[in-house]
Amino acid sequence: MEPSRILVVGGGFAGVECARRLERKLAATEAEITLVSPFGYQLYLPLLPHVASGVVTPQSVAVSLRRILRRTTIVPGGAIGVDTRAKVCVVRKINDEIVDVRYDQIVLAPGSVTRTFDIPGLDEYAYGMKTLAEAAYVRDHVIEQLDLAAAGNDEAERACRLQFVVVGGGYAGTETAACLQRLTTAATRRYPRLDPRLVKWHVVDIAPKLMPELGDRLGRKALEVLRDRGIEVSLGVSVAEVGADSVKLTDGRVLPSHTLIWTAGVAASPLVGTLGAETVKGRLAVTPYMSVPGADGVFALGDAAAVPDLAVGGGAVCPPTAQHAQRQGKAVAENIIASLRGTPMQPYRHRDLGLVVDLGGADAVSKPLGVEMSGLPAQAVARGYHLMALRTNVAKIRVGTNWTLNAIAGDDFVRTGFQARRPARLRDFEFTDSYLTQEQVREHTASPAAGR
Ligand SMILES: Cc1cc2nc3c(=O)[nH]c(=O)nc-3n(C[C@H](O)[C@H](O)[C@H](O)COP(=O)(O)OP(=O)(O)OC[C@H]3O[C@@H](n4cnc5c(N)ncnc54)[C@H](O)[C@@H]3O)c2cc1C
Repeated sequence: MEPSRILVVGGGFAGVECARRLERKLAATEAEITLVSPFGYQLYLPLLPHVASGVVTPQSVAVSLRRILRRTTIVPGGAIGVDTRAKVCVVRKINDEIVDVRYDQIVLAPGSVTRTFDIPGLDEYAYGMKTLAEAAYVRDHVIEQLDLAAAGNDEAERACRLQFVVVGGGYAGTETAACLQRLTTAATRRYPRLDPRLVKWHVVDIAPKLMPELGDRLGRKALEVLRDRGIEVSLGVSVAEVGADSVKLTDGRVLPSHTLIWTAGVAASPLVGTLGAETVKGRLAVTPYMSVPGADGVFALGDAAAVPDLAVGGGAVCPPTAQHAQRQGKAVAENIIASLRGTPMQPYRHRDLGLVVDLGGADAVSKPLGVEMSGLPAQAVARGYHLMALRTNVAKIRVGTNWTLNAIAGDDFVRTGFQARRPARLRDFEFTDSYLTQEQVREHTASPAAGR
């Protein structure tokens, strides 16, 4: 028997966990495992706000794929379409070469992209917090505003540079605003010309509450922490228009600002649209076994798939969290192994373990296993959880050391300039323009030139 060709798309929480388990449980004679990944690392997204605020370095949250995976072939590139009838995944490699990768089983774990709306100026001026490059870019951008404000003499311009707007009151937006606000507040010690009263942060969300998944009490606690620090939180409000130096809110206010950080939710990767399969709110519809109905050998999971949440029931689907993605990765690997060995597959079931929200310094709110915590104990739980969840010991040590150093030595205000003067729109960072349409995929795989 030829080994089965298993292709995993996406080296994130779900994809890496799946490939790792397949490697461990299947002999090389049973399966050839291939992973398509645009980057050589698994990104630990929950710590992106720490990268943006310089509390940890970008490298410490980029966990080396080559350290985690031993015999998986890594194709450096992104999948731009999948033809489930021909069992071909079309990949654009990082040198722009297009290759067709044939598979017997495919695991679709390309995650999600920043969800946007049709708001004038948003495409041009909003910055995301979804990739490592975005977090590093936001850090440089915020420090650039401090540098320019400190060197300038025009009062209105200084005020504009020192006003920052974050849209999205979920955990990603709240943590981003809280961590960056700490950085800009600390800046006033290193920038003698900066007037601390001019540094302003706004969090804007159309929902009536911050982080509703935390429950009323902890949501209120988080709001209190932000407001005590001087962060203005506007709930029930959204953005009407964005310009190069202003953000207009739906309540009519115009905030002079050069910085709009957009964290208002995620949408499944555009790869999903190339299959022509059924979706639920944009995520691929899958069975409780995470197989895609009607498509032979196709599995999907993580942020890209609407996996039924059997622990909640009532037709609920799992929320897009790392906690679920990681466990779904293991469960899909087991189901693929079961299908190869002719044993029954198991439905995915996981009871949510709760949420941790790091607001920087000693501030945090956490709800592990339903227990509500705030302040230092919550911070200890949050940081302990991240250290446990990081995949390699090297990554744990890097992050732990960075936290310790930051706690002892404070913040640095280093603008690296690596990404200066390059396009910085969401689509430039998240490559959302790269995908084929379903028809283009079919045409491509039907053409005689297709093949590898
Ligand atoms: C700022 C922030 C904070 C968060 N905090 C938490 C938290 O505290 N707790 C929690 O549980 N969750 C948190 N999340 C959510 C969590 O990170 C996601 O739910 C999780 O990463 C989803 O896992 P995934 O494997 O589906 O996708 P990802 O981990 O995003 O992995 C997808 C991978 O696929 C790659 N990829 C994308 N497109 C393609 C393609 N076309 N071809 C090949 N590869 C592709 C990407 O580069 C990436 O490596 C946070 C998210 C953000 C943005």
